[in-house]
Amino acid sequence: MALNERLDETKVLRDPVHGYIHVDLKVVWDVINSSWFQRLRRIRQLGGANMVYHCAEHTRFSHSLGVYEIVRRMISEVPDIDQALNEYEKITVMLAGLLHDAGHGPYSHAFEEISATSHEQYTCRIIEENTEITKILENASEGLSKDVADVIRHKSANPLLSQLISSQLDADRMDYLLRDAYFTGTTYGEFDLERILRTLRVKDNRLVVKESGVYAVENYIMARYHMYWQVYYHPTARSYETLLHMLFKRMRDLGDTEDPTLLKQFVPLVTKGKIPLEDYFALDESACSYGFHMLVHHQDPILRDLAERVRDRKLFAYADSTPQFNRQMRAKLKKAGYDLNYYWGRDSVMQKPYVPYRGSQESAVWVWMKDGSVRELSNASNIVYSLIHGPVHDDNKVYFPADVI
Ligand code: ZN
Repeated sequence: MALNERLDETKVLRDPVHGYIHVDLKVVWDVINSSWFQRLRRIRQLGGANMVYHCAEHTRFSHSLGVYEIVRRMISEVPDIDQALNEYEKITVMLAGLLHDAGHGPYSHAFEEISATSHEQYTCRIIEENTEITKILENASEGLSKDVADVIRHKSANPLLSQLISSQLDADRMDYLLRDAYFTGTTYGEFDLERILRTLRVKDNRLVVKESGVYAVENYIMARYHMYWQVYYHPTARSYETLLHMLFKRMRDLGDTEDPTLLKQFVPLVTKGKIPLEDYFALDESACSYGFHMLVHHQDPILRDLAERVRDRKLFAYADSTPQFNRQMRAKLKKAGYDLNYYWGRDSVMQKPYVPYRGSQESAVWVWMKDGSVRELSNASNIVYSLIHGPVHDDNKVYFPADVI
């Protein structure tokens, strides 16, 4: 198969965010049809937010296709990007957009925390370690799997490629904001994607936005800010994630791999080693939800209770974390017989809507001013300037069984 081999006709996949996803390259189509990519249908996009927004059942599969589509549009509809990249780079960056979340495990962050795995590492392993995807990529062009993984880990020879899929104005964020807004039914995440695409340029091999596009970018930054506090950091979603964390933790602490009510897919997690790729493949959200169902009959009362809470959405209550409240509540929980290792959770979240400089110049948003100069976004927008110089919004919560209040 040649790298640029086209399909007989362009495949179009209906999508509520983009209208259609367009695929005309055979290598892209083959990756979409691989078992590792199809696995993403069984991993939902939002860990706990569907406990708040009941229609947020969309998956990493649809988000990955959406990111691919935005990258495809960037390289074909933005003349500067079209001219800045050669054909090999264009195909590489489209594949990187498609595969950037291939390593996500079940329930996003609750699982990553407990298994001490990062989804980025798994993404690169899935691309490079001899899976079906590796074979498709290597078959199309020798060395392609490493080049695609390099874009994802920001090691690409051409930094413009990583900017398109992973910066502060990238195809990944643009898709998840629009998609999560659509499926949660919130309007905070909406912004003018068309306007941003129209005003993108490349200057000195760096992605910039024209001064006339600053309003659309401000809107996008605000959309992100609102989505974080209203959706991603919603305390009920965090309560659910705390519960999942406690359930996985209890399962690991018991460490009983012989138990008949323990689904075999959970065994690699319980034994605490590095999870091999084939076991990781089997541990999707379908397996987990069946596994939780079985644990409702477990002999351990804590595991049984936590599994029932997860299955039936009997979430922990939450409150602002203060030393006095925490002291009193912990005493009450102990008195009621709760094991604080599994029935007392806390977390702390904070979010900066935009960071002017984060390790590398590529991650900032650059504005091409009418006078020809290039300025970092906070020096070109009063709104963004005020946002980053205001106090940092953070939120510290504690979680505990509701019956103790
Ligand atoms: Zn993503």
